[in-house]
Amino acid sequence: MKTPETIRAIAVGVDIQNDFIDGSLAVPEGETIVAPFNRTTDAVRRIGGAVILTRDWHPKETPHFADYGGPWPTHCVAETRGADFSPALDVQPNDIILSKGMGQTDGYSGWEGTTDNGATLETLITPITRGQKVRVFIGGLATDYCVKATAIDIASNFADDERVTTYLLRDAVRGVNIRPDDSDRALADMRAAGVIEIDSQAAIAMLQGEVR
Ligand SMILES: [Zn+2]
Repeated sequence: MKTPETIRAIAVGVDIQNDFIDGSLAVPEGETIVAPFNRTTDAVRRIGGAVILTRDWHPKETPHFADYGGPWPTHCVAETRGADFSPALDVQPNDIILSKGMGQTDGYSGWEGTTDNGATLETLITPITRGQKVRVFIGGLATDYCVKATAIDIASNFADDERVTTYLLRDAVRGVNIRPDDSDRALADMRAAGVIEIDSQAAIAMLQGEVR
């Protein structure tokens, strides 16, 4: 008997937090990603998929911050307004929250994030059955740092598992662009790792086609 093929959709929202939208490390046009990401998570939830939200959740003192020799202004300190998800982000009770950067590390990649129960992107994305196909749709901030690190880690860790496909929601990401071409280079690095670019509208159409 052939294993039945089932589809599981997962949206991963990377660091859609106040400090990256209107706070200490605001990403240019960062606010524009929220609406397309919300539309995508709505489509994901409608077919019973999971929404995973990563967040920078830093201690007050860390070598990640300029005051302690690091590259960035203080941002997303745990339990502060800057670390809260954007009020425009549609967060539902069943969404899964992964915190990262809690120690003395940069914590760019959601791959190192954990839930309160110890779940990780690896445990959450790994297909549950032999026939299950998992489609991962990534949006968030910022293209050239945490989105890039998270997308590359997902795609490369599942590179040998053809059941998992990693998509980047092209209109639901924005970059810091300290050098003007940083986002373009990040997109090229993600493509090289096997990440597929897709517009949120095309992703939603794909998800709607998978309702059966
Ligand atoms: Zn950070």
